[in-house]
Amino acid sequence: MRPLTMVDLKSQYEKIKPDVDKAIQFVIDNTQFIKGDAVKEFENELATYLGVKHVIGCANGTDALQIAMMALGLKPGDEVITTNFTFIATVEVIALLGLKPILVDVYPDTYNININELKKAISPKTKAIVPVHLFGQCAHMESLMEIAKQHNLFVIEDNAQAIGADYTFSSGITKKAGTIGHIGCTSFFPSKNLGCYGDGGALFTNDDELAEQIASIVNHGMKKRYYHDRIGVNSRLDTIQAAILRIKLPKLDEYILARQEVASYYTKAFQEIAEIDTPKIDSFTSHVFHQYTMRIKGGKREALKSFLESKNVPAMIYYPVPLHTQKAFLEFKDDRDFPITEELCNEVLSLPMHTELDEEQLTYITNSVIEFFENN
Ligand SMILES: *Cc1c(COP(=O)(O)O)cnc(C)c1O
Repeated sequence: MRPLTMVDLKSQYEKIKPDVDKAIQFVIDNTQFIKGDAVKEFENELATYLGVKHVIGCANGTDALQIAMMALGLKPGDEVITTNFTFIATVEVIALLGLKPILVDVYPDTYNININELKKAISPKTKAIVPVHLFGQCAHMESLMEIAKQHNLFVIEDNAQAIGADYTFSSGITKKAGTIGHIGCTSFFPSKNLGCYGDGGALFTNDDELAEQIASIVNHGMKKRYYHDRIGVNSRLDTIQAAILRIKLPKLDEYILARQEVASYYTKAFQEIAEIDTPKIDSFTSHVFHQYTMRIKGGKREALKSFLESKNVPAMIYYPVPLHTQKAFLEFKDDRDFPITEELCNEVLSLPMHTELDEEQLTYITNSVIEFFENN
């Protein structure tokens, strides 16, 4: 059996190696390292795939979130509501810009932002909501957008984990994750569902004016060279990364399907195990399974994780510490508590999830999990 890893970028690369190598070499031969043609081409191709008017590349997903908040004109002291159960980047940029992160608890079965808790967190100072489509399925965007409209709030979707997921509204209309709010942000970090070979990110919007602001901010706040209209940053998608992404984008749906098949395999195998809550998928969204994250009940997570490690099955905890108890965020701590996030941090466990898992590996992984529960 091929050794098990959480992600397997090497095997995926081997299948597209000739195209990728050629694309990289082309950029080197042309020396268009910054703002080369591949960047614009990739932005256009991704916009078509997503059905959104504008895609603007940037250096990484964290920058994308920061740039979105800058483009919307958020000012120090403004409150931004997001979920307590996410990767640190979401909250980090809020704090960096002098905005106040207001954390909200999540649903126990989908791990996405709880809409009732979100409503309770709105104050006169609230300016924006940042839903995170965690692990690959969309948050409750329809209700979230209605609330945002009522209160005149901006919505920035953190779509780093759910690129390609579909959201279906009650009207029957379907939109891609990240194209529903005012701005969508994504990351092309290598292990993401659409990953490049280094850092990369992008912002999406249907708003022409916002797109213009974003394009200016990513490039030192200038439209005309050396004329700076506003304070910006240096955050561009490298041409080499864009060239690689142009090879991988046409394969994204195939990659998503491979992930969904792995997820179905796991879920089916664990059906009879009482101590495992397999991931629930909400009816209004598809799940592109950036992670396969289950809840392990009965206080058995650590023992299961150690057992799996002893069998060379890697398993990871995304995420072990609630954001409100992170040392870096203690200054934002208030008296609210987050019972579901705390439960999740104690119970979640993610299994290997990538596009290259084969039947032999899947059988070995699921049998190892089953073996643990037969003896514990
Ligand atoms: C990966 C990730 C980011 C940040 O992306 P980078 O490209 O690593 O900066 C932001 N939010 C979430 C939810 C992520 O998973």
